[in-house]
Amino acid sequence: MSKPILLSVDDDSDVLRAIERDLRSRYGAEYRVIGSDSPDAAMEILKQLKVRNDSVALLLADQRMPGMNGVEFLQEGMRVFPDAKRALLTAYADTSAAISAINEANINFFFMKPWDPPADHLYPQLDDLLEDWKASYKPTFEGIRVLGTRWSPRCYELRDFLARNHVPYQWTDVEISANDPETKRLLDVLGPEAQSLPVVLFPDGTKLLEGAPPEVAQKVGLRTRAQTNFYDLAIIGGGPAGLAAAVYGASEGLHTVMIEREAPGGQAGMSSRIENYLGFPTGLSGGDLARRAVVQAQRFGVVILAPQEAVSVRTEGSYRIVKLADGNELSCHALMVATGVQWKRLEAPGIEKFHGAGVYYGGGATEALSCKGENVYVVGGANSAGQAAMNFAKYAEKVVMLVRGDGLASTMSQYLIDQIKETPKIQVWSHASVSEAHGDTHLEEISVMCSDTNKMERVPAAAMFIFIGAQPRTEWLAGLVERDDHGFLLTGPDLIRDGARPKGWALDRDPFLLETNVPGIFGVGDVRHGSVKRVASGVGEGSVAVQFIHQYLSKV
Ligand SMILES: Cc1cc2nc3c(=O)[nH]c(=O)nc-3n(C[C@H](O)[C@H](O)[C@H](O)COP(=O)(O)OP(=O)(O)OC[C@H]3O[C@@H](n4cnc5c(N)ncnc54)[C@H](O)[C@@H]3O)c2cc1C
Repeated sequence: MSKPILLSVDDDSDVLRAIERDLRSRYGAEYRVIGSDSPDAAMEILKQLKVRNDSVALLLADQRMPGMNGVEFLQEGMRVFPDAKRALLTAYADTSAAISAINEANINFFFMKPWDPPADHLYPQLDDLLEDWKASYKPTFEGIRVLGTRWSPRCYELRDFLARNHVPYQWTDVEISANDPETKRLLDVLGPEAQSLPVVLFPDGTKLLEGAPPEVAQKVGLRTRAQTNFYDLAIIGGGPAGLAAAVYGASEGLHTVMIEREAPGGQAGMSSRIENYLGFPTGLSGGDLARRAVVQAQRFGVVILAPQEAVSVRTEGSYRIVKLADGNELSCHALMVATGVQWKRLEAPGIEKFHGAGVYYGGGATEALSCKGENVYVVGGANSAGQAAMNFAKYAEKVVMLVRGDGLASTMSQYLIDQIKETPKIQVWSHASVSEAHGDTHLEEISVMCSDTNKMERVPAAAMFIFIGAQPRTEWLAGLVERDDHGFLLTGPDLIRDGARPKGWALDRDPFLLETNVPGIFGVGDVRHGSVKRVASGVGEGSVAVQFIHQYLSKV
C-alpha cells in the first residue's frame, strides 16, 4: 500500500530542505514526504497525485511566496484534496495574516519560523493534525481505474476485455457519478482529457485516453508478441480446446505458443455456470475454468499471446507459418486451429447501431451487474441463453426470453428448463422475434413480432442479450485448409471421399483423426465439422490431438 503524502512548499530552498528533513525524520516511516520550491509546481504535483489516486494527509506552505501566497496555495490545494490538513509557515511579521487565514480560509494551523526545536514547536501540533486526519482516512483503491459511460461501445469493449482477462480494475461511470464530489475533482484535474473516454488511469500515474484493449494489454503486461518465432506447436484460439492442447502439449515437452484474439476461455469463458463439466458437482463459472487453465498452461511454460489474432497461414516445406494481425509472423511444425465459433449477428434495423450500447452478443459478464433493477431481454432458446437468463435474474428486475418457437423443450437441456420454471423473474415469450431496436444514444425499446398473433409489440428494454447460434470464422484459412459449406474444418475421415485421400495429400498414410487436409495442421473443438459443441468434448479433442502431433513430429 502506498504511503499517504505530506507535501511542503517553500520558495526558500534552505527552509524547504529543513522542513523536509524534520518531517522525514519523524513521519518518514508512515508517510511519504514531498517538497516543492514553487506553488505552481506544487499544484502540478497535487494534480498528478490525484490522477494516481494517492492520499495527501498534509499541505504545508510558506506564506510569502512569489505568484501565489501560502494561503492562496492552500485554498487551491483544498479543491483537489479537501481532506488534507492545511498548515502555514509564517514569519513573526505575518502572524496576524495567518490568524485571519485560519478563520477565513479553513487553515488548520500556523507554525512560526524557525520552529526549533521541532520536538517543541512542530511535532506536537503536527501529531495532533495527523491523528485527526487518520481518524477519517480510508485507503484508496490502488489498481487500474477506468472512467467511462455505460452506453459507450468503446467503454464496453474495454471493460469486457479487462474482465475476461481477469485484470482487476475500478470502474467509474462519469455520468452516473456526475454529482459525486470525488469524481468531480478527478474530472476537474483531467480537464479536457476527461472527454476522451474511456480514460484509463494506472497506479504509476500514467493514463491512456480512449484506451483500447491492445494498448491497455501492453501496459498491464499481457504479452502480445512472441520472443522467439519458432515453436513445435502453435495453437490458434484459447478456448477449452486450445487450452487443453496447450497444457498437454507443453507438459509433454513441446515448445508451445497459444494465440488468442480476445481472452483465454473462449465461449466457455462467457458462461456464468457450467454444470455438466466432470469433476465440478456444483458447477463452476467459465471465468474460473479459464483462469485455472491459464495458470496450468503457464506453469508448463506455454507462451500465451493475447490479445493477438492469426490472420493467415502458409506452408514452406515442413514449416507452417502464421501471420499475426500486427504484421509479425511465427512458424511452427504443428499448427492447431481451435478457433471455435462466434455469435451469429441478429439482422434487424437498429441492432448494429446499439451494439455495445444496450445490445450485446453473448453473456456480457460486465453488463450483468449494470442490469440491477432493470427489464432485460435475452434472445434465443438454447442452453447458452438459458444460463444467461439465470445469471441476469440475480440482478435484473425482470428477464424476458424471446424464443421463436413454441417453447424451450426442443432447444434447451431439461435441468435448465426446470431452473427457469422455478425462477419467477424469468418470463419466456414464445413465437417472438425482434424486428427493430429503438433509442437515441442507447437501446431504449424493441419491436417484437409475435408470429402466433401476427402483431407487432413495442416494449421498453434496458438491455438485450443475443444468443442465436454461432458460426466459425475461418476465412483466413481459405484456399489452404478444406472447410464445409458453413466454414467448419474437415478433418480425419471427413476428408476421405470414395476411399480417396484429399487432393494434394502426398503422405503414405491417411490424415490422422483431427488432422486437416494439410499435414501437421489440426482442427479441434467447435470449429471442427461434426464436433460436439461442449466444453468437455473441446477439452477432449485438444488433448487427444496432441498424441497425433507427437506422431506427426516424429516424421517431420
Ligand atoms: C454462454 C455459453 C454457455 C455455455 N455453456 C456450456 C455448458 O454449460 N456446458 C458445455 O459443455 N458447453 C457450454 N457451452 C459451449 C462451450 O463453451 C463450447 O463448446 C466450447 O467453449 C468450445 O470450445 P473451443 O475451444 O472449441 O472454442 P471457443 O470456446 O469458441 O474458443 C475459441 C477461441 O478462439 C479465439 N479465436 C477465434 N479466431 C481466432 C483467430 N483468428 N486468432 C486468434 N484467436 C482466435 C476466440 O477468441 C476464442 O477465444 C456454452 C457456450 C456459451 C457461449
